[in-house]
Amino acid sequence: MRSGFSTAELLYPLTKARATSASKLPNAKANKKVVSAHQQAVQDAIANSVPNYPDVVTEAVDSGDTGDIVDNLDPKPGLLLPALIGLYTMARSLGAMDGAKLTGGDPIQGDNGNALLDNAPTMADNITNTTASTVGAIITSGVTDGQSASDINSTVGDVLNNDQRANMITLTEANRAYNTGVLDQLIASGETTFEWITYDGACADCLALEGTHPVGDDTPPLHPNCQCAIGLSGSTD
Ligand SMILES: [Zn+2]
Repeated sequence: MRSGFSTAELLYPLTKARATSASKLPNAKANKKVVSAHQQAVQDAIANSVPNYPDVVTEAVDSGDTGDIVDNLDPKPGLLLPALIGLYTMARSLGAMDGAKLTGGDPIQGDNGNALLDNAPTMADNITNTTASTVGAIITSGVTDGQSASDINSTVGDVLNNDQRANMITLTEANRAYNTGVLDQLIASGETTFEWITYDGACADCLALEGTHPVGDDTPPLHPNCQCAIGLSGSTD
């Protein structure tokens, strides 16, 4: 762990590989903005993503059959998609602006950000299917344990309205999009490498990735809630 910074590091924190804390990372301000603008929409979409669960619970409790619960939940990824597209668009453009400041170019919309937006329906599907699997598992174990329908419904409701999960998803996806914006900017200015920037408190897997990478390597987030950023690598000075 580092204890302090040189003047150059304070003036050009993006060119150095370690910020003091997550709140000092170059992406921190942008991600916070995106989270505050989109978390509620993400949370609402998740809360409504399996609207027929009370019927599924009633049927499973009445029949004792837990076979087709996840299929019967019929998840609605279309609710999450607009929120995801909104947050990707905003975070990616904030990343492009910061990246443009870093490289001295004009903000552009590049391939990595475009690919992320193209992938938004798949991401919405995956997140919503995970929600449905979790809800399905709660219903299955509730029925197996002989819980009442209203007890099961109440547990499902708590999970669907869990703002920690909505926050984690919003922050992680904001960071993903922000970093594509920076990366596209680096590529547009001819950089062939990027710097993986970690922070005190980052996990061991991320710390192992700290430093210079060729463009084409994976970029953060490495995992849910990963707040690592990317920046200009020192080797291209
Ligand atoms: Zn990380």
